Amino acid sequence: MGTKSREMIYGASVRAAAERAAEARKQADRLAVEAWNKRMLGFQGPAQPSPALGDAINAGFGYLEVKCLGCNTHQTVPLNIVRRPKSTPIHELERYMRCRDCSRVQGRPFKRSHLVALRPTKISTDGPASTWWPVPVR
Ligand SMILES: [Zn+2]
Repeated sequence: MGTKSREMIYGASVRAAAERAAEARKQADRLAVEAWNKRMLGFQGPAQPSPALGDAINAGFGYLEVKCLGCNTHQTVPLNIVRRPKSTPIHELERYMRCRDCSRVQGRPFKRSHLVALRPTKISTDGPASTWWPVPVR
């Protein structure tokens, strides 16, 4: 039996199975993110264990809300600009981020932050337009 007839016979069901698997993975990623968010918002942690960077993005949560413990500002960091492997757990990002304003004031990288939750969209901060931004340390 040639490749062509195999494609005729199995093609559709192979593709359908792959689609179901992808959908199930996305659903699992979504549930894992929601569970993590509930723990973070309800109990303020622990942040560990946490979903992987790639899983959060796959689940449609492209932003991480972070609170700076220096100036109490909340901001969202787009996960797609974070230069870490997709397998990096979200909680590990905490130590790669610093607050720009607090760093300027203190004259050294200010890294004390609290992870708040994963967000599907960018939140806007209340208060004055923030120059604050936790940037990934290169
Ligand atoms: Zn700060």
